[in-house]
Amino acid sequence: MTRSVVRRPATVADAVRDLAELGADGAPLAGGTWVMRAPLRGVPVARVYVALDGLAELRDIRTGDGVVEIGAGVTHAELAAVDGPPALAGLVEAARRSAFPAVRSVATVGGNIAAVGFPEADLVPALLAADARVVLATPEGERTEDLATYLASRPGRPAGELIVRVVVPVPAGRRSAFERLTVRGGGEYAVASVALSVDLDGATVSAARVAVGGVEKAARLSSAAAAVLVGSPLDEATAERAGQAAANGCTAREGLDAPGWYRLAVLPALARRAAAALTSTPDDQQE
Ligand SMILES: Cc1cc2nc3c(=O)[nH]c(=O)nc-3n(C[C@H](O)[C@H](O)[C@H](O)COP(=O)(O)OP(=O)(O)OC[C@H]3O[C@@H](n4cnc5c(N)ncnc54)[C@H](O)[C@@H]3O)c2cc1C
Repeated sequence: MTRSVVRRPATVADAVRDLAELGADGAPLAGGTWVMRAPLRGVPVARVYVALDGLAELRDIRTGDGVVEIGAGVTHAELAAVDGPPALAGLVEAARRSAFPAVRSVATVGGNIAAVGFPEADLVPALLAADARVVLATPEGERTEDLATYLASRPGRPAGELIVRVVVPVPAGRRSAFERLTVRGGGEYAVASVALSVDLDGATVSAARVAVGGVEKAARLSSAAAAVLVGSPLDEATAERAGQAAANGCTAREGLDAPGWYRLAVLPALARRAAAALTSTPDDQQE
């Protein structure tokens, strides 16, 4: 069995230099909640891990200029505690509903995005719906990429690259929500999830982004679902039709937790519940 070595760089620049020098022998290590289960997935561990947990630069959450910037080292628990604008609510909800408290206290935003072969990653559909961009540190400097582009190019990203933060636009009038379904409940992996983000012009949806997680190999946006919402009032019946449009466009994966047909069958109800969360008042949400 391979025994890994852990390096502890002092800065993001040092981490990038280490990763570039190590090439295929190295990999970032954030919360380790995905890496630690590599043997269970039959995936080899890296010879050297470059630990990110000591890098304060990755831990910030900053608000300003119509965006919220969330460091890659922010944990699910920290994100779940953010009291942000409505445009961020879906992402906060995804963090709150993901996994279990012990896992949420160490698992990070960057690890959730970068984990390959993880269809159930909860933050990813919420970030896609929120139109997030990924800021990368590379040996050549910082670069910003559309999240969908980043996801489509994994695995095989260049060595020496690190996600440093995500940038989420939070315009006034935008609202977002996230819903997930598990087989037994609680924080286990979701069979399917839906993230909605809508801009409202009065009661009418003027722009929408709908993302589906858990159904295909990686989360993805559904333009067909968004098209159903745009121009209509934001109500549960329309959201259900949007969920059906998303299901019609997906090729669902089979799994031990659920067959493909089931993942598709639950999407209309998940979209309906997400819309209900968007339209409910704080009083409705009290239990
Ligand atoms: C029992 C259990 C249940 C879980 N349930 C869920 C769940 O329901 N929903 C959910 O979303 N998650 C769940 N997770 C957590 C999941 O592992 C994390 O959400 C996340 O995917 C990993 O984050 P991490 O910081 O631990 O990443 P790590 O394990 O440290 O890294 C994951 C991958 O990302 C790479 N990486 C890490 N940080 C960066 C970076 N900044 N830039 C580039 N690459 C990077 C690593 O090299 C590795 O390939 C669960 C975990 C466990 C153990």
